Amino acid sequence: MLEVPNINSKDAKLKKLIYDVDESLFYEDKYSNEEFEHLCICSGGTTSSCAKNGFTTLDLRKNYNKIKLDRKTNLVTIGGGVIMGDLVNHLQKHNRSFPIGLSKLPGAGYILTGGVSPLSRAYGLAIDNIESIKGFLGNGTFISLKKNQINPEEQLIWEAIKGAAPFFSIITEIELKTIQSNPIKVIEGFVNLNELSEIIKLSEEFPENISLQWIYAQKIYIYIFAELNNLEDKTTEENLMLLDKFPALKKQFYENFNKINFFPKELNLYELNANNHSEVISLLGEDLKNDIPIFIKCLSEIMENKPNNSCYIASQQLGGKTKKLNHGASFFVHRKSTWKPWIYASWKKNDLQEKEVALEWIYKSWSKLKRFYPNIHLAQLHNHLNSHEEEITLAFGNRMNELKTLKNIFDPQGILPPL
Ligand SMILES: Cc1cc2nc3c(=O)[nH]c(=O)nc-3n(C[C@H](O)[C@H](O)[C@H](O)COP(=O)(O)OP(=O)(O)OC[C@H]3O[C@@H](n4cnc5c(N)ncnc54)[C@H](O)[C@@H]3O)c2cc1C
Repeated sequence: MLEVPNINSKDAKLKKLIYDVDESLFYEDKYSNEEFEHLCICSGGTTSSCAKNGFTTLDLRKNYNKIKLDRKTNLVTIGGGVIMGDLVNHLQKHNRSFPIGLSKLPGAGYILTGGVSPLSRAYGLAIDNIESIKGFLGNGTFISLKKNQINPEEQLIWEAIKGAAPFFSIITEIELKTIQSNPIKVIEGFVNLNELSEIIKLSEEFPENISLQWIYAQKIYIYIFAELNNLEDKTTEENLMLLDKFPALKKQFYENFNKINFFPKELNLYELNANNHSEVISLLGEDLKNDIPIFIKCLSEIMENKPNNSCYIASQQLGGKTKKLNHGASFFVHRKSTWKPWIYASWKKNDLQEKEVALEWIYKSWSKLKRFYPNIHLAQLHNHLNSHEEEITLAFGNRMNELKTLKNIFDPQGILPPL
C-alpha cells in the first residue's frame, strides 16, 4: 500500500513500488508486453493516477525531497517529490514565498501541470517561475535544461515540460523563482447565489493582487484574497470596500500566505474521506461578463441535480500575469483564461453503481459548463477514464500534435502515462 492523500491511489493494489530513477526503469520488456501498462509517478500523491491496481509506482517522495534556497539569487531548488506545504514552510524561514495553490498537499505535479495560485494574477502560473529542471525522458535520457540557455533542439522539450511534462518525462529537480512573502488580507464567508453573482461581477474588475475563489458544496463559500505589497495601496482598499455590503463576509489579516487554510471544516468536504473514491475535472474559460446571470442559473441547475452531498463545483481566478507570454511559450496554451472552475464528485468505494452516477453527473455538468469554460486544465490525468482523449485535446489545443511527436520520440515504449 502507498500512503498518499488520494484515497483511490491509496487503496490501489500495486504491482511494485520503486523509489529511484535508474536505468532498469527503462528496460524494454517491462512495458511492451502488457497492454496499457505504464509507470505511475507519485509526487504529492493527491491524484487518482499516482497508483493503480496492477501497476508499478515510482514514488519520488523519499529520494527527491530536498529543498534548498540560494540566498543570493533567491532561487529555490526542490526535488521532484517535494510537496508545496514543505516548500512554502521552508521559504517562510527566509521571508520568501511561492505561488502555491489552494492546498499545501500537492507535490511537483502542481508545478508541472501549470499551477494556478491565488497569487497567479500577480506572479504568473507556477510554470512561469521555473528557472531550470533536471530529470529523465521516457527513453532514459538524462536532461538538464536552464532558462535562457536552451539549444534550438531542446526548445520544444523546454516548452512542453511547462504544462505537459508527465507525458514524456520524470522530473527529479526543479529550480524556481521565489517571491517576497507579503501580508495577505482575506475576505471570506458564506454567500447566496445572488451575492455570488454580484461578487463575480466585481472580481472581473479586480487589480492583479486580488483574486476570487469560490466553492459551492452544500452552501457557497467565497475567498477574496488580496496580497498587501503596500499597506497604503488605495486601489486595493477601494476594491475591498466594495465588499462591505455583504454583511456575512469577515475580513482576516494574515502575516503571510502559509498561515491561510482554504476550505474550512464547516464545508464538510469529502476530499479526504477514507471511505470514498473521487474524481475531479478542471476547466478553463474567460471572463463571464454579461453571461453571469445565465451562468448562475446553470450552476444552480447543476447543483440541484447532484447525486450526493459530496459533489461540488468550485472556481479560482487567474488572469493578469497568467495572460502574458513574457515567460516564454509553454504547453499551458489557454493563456486568455481568467477562470479555472473544477467539478468534484465522490462515491462510496466499491459501489460501482454510485460511481457511475457520480461520474455521469461530472460529465453532464461539464457539458453544461462548456459554453462558459470550453477548455481543460489538465491538473489531473484521467487516462483511466473515457473522457481522457477529449480532455487532452481541450487541454493542449493546437500543440497536441507537437506533444504526440515528443511522446513518440522520447517515450517510444509508453513508459509514462499515455496520451
Ligand atoms: C486539495 C487540492 C487542492 C488543489 N488546488 C489546486 C490549485 O489551487 N491550483 C492548481 O493548479 N491545482 C490544484 N490542485 C490540483 C493539483 O495541483 C494537481 O492535481 C497536481 O497534478 C497534483 O500533483 P501531485 O504531485 O500532488 O499529484 P500526484 O498524484 O503525485 O501526481 C500526479 C501526476 O503528475 C505527474 N507527476 C507528478 N510529479 C511528477 C514529476 N516529478 N515528474 C513527472 N511527472 C510527475 C505524474 O503523471 C503523476 O501521476 C489541487 C489538488 C488538490 C487535491
